[in-house]
Amino acid sequence: MSTQSQHCLVIGAGTVGASCAWHLRRAGFEVTLVDHESPGQTTSFGNCGCISPNQIIPFSYPGLSREIPRWLFDRLGPLFIRWRHLPGLAPWFWRFWRAATWDGVHHIAQAQTQLMRQVIEDFGEIADATGTRDLLREKGMINVYDTMEEFRHAQWKYDLMTEHGFEWEIIGPAELKIMVPELRLEKGIALYYPQWWHTVDPGLLTARIAESAFADGVNYVQDKVQAVEAGAAGVTVATESGKSLKADKLVVAAGAWSNRIARQIDGRSVPMTPKRGYHAQIGQPGIELEYPVTSSSRFFVITPMTGGLRIAGTAEFASLDAEPDYRRARVLLEHGKHYLPNLEIGEVSEWMGQRPMMADSLPVIGPSPRHSSVLYAFGHGHYGLTQGPTTGKIITRLALGQDPGTDLEPFRFDRF
Ligand SMILES: Cc1cc2nc3c(=O)[nH]c(=O)nc-3n(C[C@H](O)[C@H](O)[C@H](O)COP(=O)(O)OP(=O)(O)OC[C@H]3O[C@@H](n4cnc5c(N)ncnc54)[C@H](O)[C@@H]3O)c2cc1C
Repeated sequence: MSTQSQHCLVIGAGTVGASCAWHLRRAGFEVTLVDHESPGQTTSFGNCGCISPNQIIPFSYPGLSREIPRWLFDRLGPLFIRWRHLPGLAPWFWRFWRAATWDGVHHIAQAQTQLMRQVIEDFGEIADATGTRDLLREKGMINVYDTMEEFRHAQWKYDLMTEHGFEWEIIGPAELKIMVPELRLEKGIALYYPQWWHTVDPGLLTARIAESAFADGVNYVQDKVQAVEAGAAGVTVATESGKSLKADKLVVAAGAWSNRIARQIDGRSVPMTPKRGYHAQIGQPGIELEYPVTSSSRFFVITPMTGGLRIAGTAEFASLDAEPDYRRARVLLEHGKHYLPNLEIGEVSEWMGQRPMMADSLPVIGPSPRHSSVLYAFGHGHYGLTQGPTTGKIITRLALGQDPGTDLEPFRFDRF
């Protein structure tokens, strides 16, 4: 197909949208990227920065519901629900709970594997072409469990990762001391995930991918999309400031806000909820880490970034427009201090972001059921940084009318 006169509009300049815009332009489309924020300044700004190919296990699995009460009533626990928002959240929780079957787990792990086995190559490709390799570290990651019992309980997850070709290994105390001398792990066990990369600044990485797309000719409209109309002749988008933008194709990559746009196109939404996470970033931590460290007991990540040590995690469920509760970020500092006793907590910046979390843990990638001119690229949950470049590549193949190279059946908008 000739892309000479084809105009593609991308809504959302997070890692996913910026990667889509970059790939589409490279394939020859005329591209406009629309976002009321600057590129990479929303959810893609403050995440843990990990590119995590072995994370194929869904968040809903048999037995999970037994853990939830313990987490909810623990001040330091990983899970918080704003109870007055529960009626609006209930349909999502119902779908999430229904996904917790062993058949579901295997199906989702298989589908995630399709994307995850491409992510490192796709990240390397976009990093080389956009000159952003300097923001990436190919070091792997250390994962700790506070007790052996917790690790044994999670053994099935590691069996599934191995079955799908992902690497992990147990490291002994002596090796751990060499790799992360500052880490205190009294009992428990440490694992090393060699395939992980991390970025030292996910917001800047996304902004630089977008800048590279602009240098290639992508047009940026800093405005909020209010209304979308799709038809046989293409799409028309109306913005808050009164602009009317017309295009042959539309890519919806608006992260946690995508349902607001999808409802106008398909007359319905998908089961996606904002799963809020927080970070506390310490500018002068007084220690240096070479590797990101994740705790599978306390559910958070510590990543060495250019701006200091970022401690990030938490799952808080509230409606999309609710105010952040930065007490969650302060709890993360207590977790950091638990593993890094020499951590100096001086000046700290706090942040909240909304993961676009699908009930079945899989993103939506593919055409709108109603309008083939609309392509969806959202719902990446915990892995939007990891899967952004791969999603951009798949969306571009679809826009070109090519084989996407990935079975997109599990990612369909209308799979529910
Ligand atoms: C604490 C935390 C840690 C995380 N750690 C990791 C990690 O280590 N690795 C990883 O892979 N992922 C991680 N994630 C998840 C990751 O950050 C997200 O999946 C990813 O940022 C989603 O990218 P996106 O481009 O879809 O959305 P966003 O970055 O949210 O971008 C969507 C954009 O759409 C724009 N938009 C919305 N509505 C409109 C509209 N009407 N008009 C115009 N623009 C609009 C928004 O302004 C926004 O800029 C983490 C998330 C959190 C919260």
